[in-house]
Amino acid sequence: MTTAMVAMRFMCRASFVTWLICVRLMMRPDGACATDDFLKFLSGVAGSVHRYTRGTLRILIVEDEQKVAKALREGLEAERYDVDVASTGEEGFFLVNHKAFDLVLLDLMLPRRDGIEVLTTLRRRGLQTPVLILTAKDTVDDRVQGLDSGADDYLVKPFAFSELLARIRALVRRDRSEQALKLQQDNLEMDVVTRKVRRAGQTVELTVKEFEMLEYLLRHRGRVVSREMLARDVWHVTARATPLDNVIDVTIARLRRKIDDRFEPKLLRTVRGVGFVLGVERS
Ligand code: CA
Repeated sequence: MTTAMVAMRFMCRASFVTWLICVRLMMRPDGACATDDFLKFLSGVAGSVHRYTRGTLRILIVEDEQKVAKALREGLEAERYDVDVASTGEEGFFLVNHKAFDLVLLDLMLPRRDGIEVLTTLRRRGLQTPVLILTAKDTVDDRVQGLDSGADDYLVKPFAFSELLARIRALVRRDRSEQALKLQQDNLEMDVVTRKVRRAGQTVELTVKEFEMLEYLLRHRGRVVSREMLARDVWHVTARATPLDNVIDVTIARLRRKIDDRFEPKLLRTVRGVGFVLGVERS
């Protein structure tokens, strides 16, 4: 691969800031070719910007055996994942509905609510987050049931930690490529690149904030999105105040008018005292 090709690859992969740095560095007055050190530098910059823009991945571990949960948490945190642990099926279900995760590691034999029940309910409600089942249940029937219930992958205990990491990377990669630039819920479609929104084929005009809020709701479809999440992730405000809650409520009301008033099924629902869900209510 030529120097230019390597440099181009990094520039394509990296953000605009990295791109500027690369161009600047390549424009040396003597016009000399990039050295190995220069390429290494490019790679480093591209990698760190890539990691920075990617953000830390959030993983939820639903596991009742404390020793296993602790080992998983420590191993994943050492890999710089952001980790939450739930020790019952119920707690796992609650957390998934109230926080955004990039991946769920789900044990099957859990107190209160077993893993399959948790998974089935979450998928029925439209949760798209990748789920990897980690379990001692190792028959073919168990695997089939797990995957049919909506798991994306299945790993039998005991397993090699390096294999778990590889599977996590693969799932997140897949999720990110699907994460994509086109989002949809029923007949509501959003193109993130052209910033066009359509409902039942008709164009819906949104303000910048309405668009950002709808994108967030679409990326969390089927899950309850709280006012706190909207304040943090859409308005980028950490300390919430009553006036902001009012702004959020007004924006939700406007958005609902635009995307739901003239259309069926109704998609934007309020969950009293908790927040909002985008998705069709199923009994
Ligand atoms: Ca268990």
